Formats: sequence, structure tokens, C-alpha cells
Amino acid sequence: MGGTTGAFDFDAVVVGAGAVGLTCGYALARRGLSVVVVEQEHAIGQGVSSRNSEVVHGGLYYPTGSLRARLCVQGRRMLYPFLASHGVAYDRCGKLVVATEEAEVPRLEAIERQALVNEVEGIAPLSAAQAHAMEPELRAVMALISPESGVMDSHGYMLALRGEIEDRGGAVVVDTPFAGAEALAGGGFRVRTGGADPADLTCRLLVTAPGLGAQAVAGRIEGFPVALIPKAHFGKGVYFVFHGRAPFSRLVYPPPIPGALGVHYRRDLGGQARFGPDLEYVDHEDYSVDPARVVGFESYIRKFWPGLPPNALSPDYAGIRPKIHGPGEPQPDFRIDGPQVHGLEGLVTLFGIESPGLTSSLAIGEEVAGLLGA
Ligand SMILES: Cc1cc2nc3c(=O)[nH]c(=O)nc-3n(C[C@H](O)[C@H](O)[C@H](O)COP(=O)(O)OP(=O)(O)OC[C@H]3O[C@@H](n4cnc5c(N)ncnc54)[C@H](O)[C@@H]3O)c2cc1C
Repeated sequence: MGGTTGAFDFDAVVVGAGAVGLTCGYALARRGLSVVVVEQEHAIGQGVSSRNSEVVHGGLYYPTGSLRARLCVQGRRMLYPFLASHGVAYDRCGKLVVATEEAEVPRLEAIERQALVNEVEGIAPLSAAQAHAMEPELRAVMALISPESGVMDSHGYMLALRGEIEDRGGAVVVDTPFAGAEALAGGGFRVRTGGADPADLTCRLLVTAPGLGAQAVAGRIEGFPVALIPKAHFGKGVYFVFHGRAPFSRLVYPPPIPGALGVHYRRDLGGQARFGPDLEYVDHEDYSVDPARVVGFESYIRKFWPGLPPNALSPDYAGIRPKIHGPGEPQPDFRIDGPQVHGLEGLVTLFGIESPGLTSSLAIGEEVAGLLGA
């Protein structure tokens, strides 16, 4: 590691090289600061950022005034130009939110109103006939179209972010777990890293973006108020893959379920049709996919795609949402806590960065830099 500025080894240390840690590093490096991002795994992007739907969300659903509403829309507006200018693959294919029975129509109307408040571009209601004309295999009594929604290559994105940090003289170091930090008397932090080559380094600013490790990392920052560490919950979601010709060209989402957007359809960048994720609370990181869940998936999918052939879905992969709410509890906002929350100058801690964290990531980076006065 290198990059001395003034009294500190680095201006900023960022913990975690997922999409969010990398965008934080990028935002700080763009401001001319020397940055090191420390990652415990052998490679970047092995955490939540590698096990999601890779959907660029429009920003329709999130409550007025929430960070998720603001950062999703801002992040998406920043994301497409970033992907385009860095040669990262994406497909702004659009999305249909569908009501498959009359009882769901009021929910779609509420989503439309929220999307308009959130200033999501191009949202429009579609009749059953209009939706059918766009996607002939779709069954819906009504739909909403979100033309700005799409899919992206999240690994290509993270590699581009890493390149941006390194081009500005920053470093992204793998096999380097954050082991602890203490505030220094005159400001800044001493950070301890573990692994095969433990080290101590000093920095003026510290950002923690460790995904599922958020609680453990915050607990290792001396003086961090324990009462501000939210309880961790693991919200597992599994996917099934369909091996035939992809039935729809757009994303297809039924209305959200409590705590998640629910099982949806996407055609990935390779043309493969995938369905998921569902939501199941688990007590440890378990990425197995129970083949028996296919029964529930099939009946759910047939509500909007009656043509799903029998025995056509195979277990795909699983992801785990870094939730900070338990089953039945209302879904809280992203927690992006600066000094005014926890009282430690120069520190921002992130908790509960679940969906739409990937879409929001560039805006989260800007938000974090702003909280640090960088
Ligand atoms: C099933 C599922 C579907 C989703 N779908 C979408 C979607 O379609 N669109 C969307 O916008 N969002 C989606 N999300 C949300 C999105 O994936 C996350 O919000 C985002 O990837 C979080 O990124 P992150 O950098 O915070 O976390 P991560 O990618 O998990 O990165 C954290 C990193 O920190 C590292 N780390 C942890 N502890 C330490 C330590 N002590 N020292 C050093 N490193 C450490 C980890 O190894 C990891 O690499 C989905 C999430 C899930 C689970």
C-alpha cells in the first residue's frame, strides 16, 4: 500500500470492495483524496454485489423522502452514462409491473402515484390489451411501464470502479480483512488489518461498507455507540433458471411482497430467462437452493405467464439481503450514518444496504463524500 497525504498514511480507508465500497472509494478519489479500499476476500465483488438480480431499478416504490427513493433515482441517472462510458454491458429493456387480478389494480395505481412523486421518468399505465401487444405471452389485467428500468453487468461495473480508483492513485487491496479501528486524539483513525500480512495504517476518513459484515465491523470501531448497531437479519432469496427461449423482452414484476420486490422475471444479458428472488429469513449464510421451492415458483409465475411449461425450471443461485428488520417488521431505509448520528468525526458507517443498493451505488458514494465534507 502507498499514498501518503500529510500526517496520515491515507486520506481515506474504505472497508469492503462491493459495489458500494467501490463507489465510495471512487467518489473520494475523484475529489483528489488518497484512498485505499480493503477487502477480506481474494477478489472484489464476492459478496451481496455478486448475488443479486443485476436490475437497474427505476425507483418506483420507495417512500417519499427516503434515501432509497432519492438515491435510487439519482444513482440510476448516474449509472447508465457510467456504464456506457466504461464499456460495461447493460440493456435498458424497460419493465412491466403487472396486476394479474382486479384486486391488485389499486396496488398498481398506488405504485404509479409513488413513482410520479419519486420523479421516475416515463411511467405510464397500460391496459391488458396494450400490455399483451407488447409482450404476447403475458397475462395481466393492467400493467405499468417503466422504460428506464434495465439489467446490467455488475462485475464489469465493479471492475470499472476499481480501475477508476487505481487510475487516480488509489488502491484496492484484497485478502485484507478490517480487524479494528480507534479514533486518534488529534482526529483521524488508526486502522488494523488482519490476514496473512497484518498492518496498521492511519487515515483521516473511514467509511465502512461491508454488506453482511456491517454489524461486526462497526462493533470493532472503538467508541462506536453499540446502541446504534442495528440487529442483523439475513433475508435469503433464491432464483430458478428457465432453459427455453426467454418469453419476454422486458422485466416483469408482480406487485411487491412485504420486505422485498418479490419473484420477478428477467432476461439477463446472455438472453437467459431467470426468476426470483423469493424471501426467507435464515440464521446463517447459506447459498443452497432447495429444488422443492420450484413448486411455489411455478404456481406464482403462471399467474403472469400461463405458458410456463412443466418441469422447465432448474435451481439457479441464492443471494442474502443484509436486512436490518425482522419478518413482519416494516422495511427501514438505508442507514448511511455520518458524524451527526454517531458522534465520530470523519466516519461514515453503512447498514442495511439491500435493494436497490446496486442501482443507487454511485449516488451513495456521493452521499458519503458529502457527509464527510470531502
Ligand atoms: C437477492 C438480492 C437481489 C438484489 N437485486 C438487486 C437488484 O436487482 N438491483 C439493485 O439495485 N440491488 C439489488 N440488490 C441489492 C444489492 O445487491 C446490494 O444493495 C449491493 O450489492 C450491496 O453492495 P455492498 O457493497 O454494500 O455489499 P457487498 O457487495 O456485500 O460488499 C461488501 C464487501 O465487504 C467485504 N467485507 C465484509 N467484512 C469485511 C471486513 N471485516 N474486512 C474487509 N472486507 C469486508 C465483503 O467481503 C464484501 O466484498 C439485491 C440484493 C439481493 C440479496
